[in-house]
Amino acid sequence: MHILVTNDDGILSPGLLALAQALKPLGKVTVLAPDRNWTASGHVKTLERPLRVREAVLFDGSPGFSTDGAPSDCVALALLGVLPEPVDLVVSGINAGENVGHDVTYSGTVTAAMEAAIWGLPGVAVSLQLPEAPPRLPDYAPAAAMARRVVERVLRFGLQQGALLNVNVPYLPLEAIRGIRITRQGLRIYRDELVKRLDPRSRPYYWIGGEAPSGVPEDGTDFGALHEGYVSVTPLQLDLTAHSLLDGLRGWEWE
Ligand code: MN
Repeated sequence: MHILVTNDDGILSPGLLALAQALKPLGKVTVLAPDRNWTASGHVKTLERPLRVREAVLFDGSPGFSTDGAPSDCVALALLGVLPEPVDLVVSGINAGENVGHDVTYSGTVTAAMEAAIWGLPGVAVSLQLPEAPPRLPDYAPAAAMARRVVERVLRFGLQQGALLNVNVPYLPLEAIRGIRITRQGLRIYRDELVKRLDPRSRPYYWIGGEAPSGVPEDGTDFGALHEGYVSVTPLQLDLTAHSLLDGLRGWEWE
């Protein structure tokens, strides 16, 4: 069993190390991750510039690889042959912050797992919900333990080709986590605000600012599960077709 571990927070992220360490008992783990933070970079395929891959050393002294590509590039590079050994499973994370609702289209963590799905491999994205004022060094150990539980089951039961799992863990001690809920995508409430400032030459520049997003804590959803203290496991697929609209759209008098 050869597991590729990547993330979108960058090769130095403590969440990546916690995930790689937690998965080691399940097989050979290779880390290939971006050399910087790609949070909210979406699903990227870098075609207009070359990509470099460098040997890296994780904080526990174990070897890995970093690239100047995006999380999804990491997966593509590994599967295209940068890693000589075939990969069986891709696990991405542990992201600093939950990825729920519409986040999945922004998330580099989730899109790395989506890239695995495109290649016909099982992909798992793991994110840790952080409190509003997160500690300088969040504790990733509970999320790492839960990630291992999920990956163990992916290996045991198999995941339908083209599917991926989006795993979100509440920021609680392991014994306080109430269990695992299988959920659907919920609804995010974004609170983005335009922040306009002036550069030293008095030209305006913009930040997308505002408070962190919240969500609708509806039963059965990813955000709802986190809200209740459960780990959320959402099966995702890349077919974004709005099937409920097909028939109505056909009736738009196209002839
Ligand atoms: Mn991130």
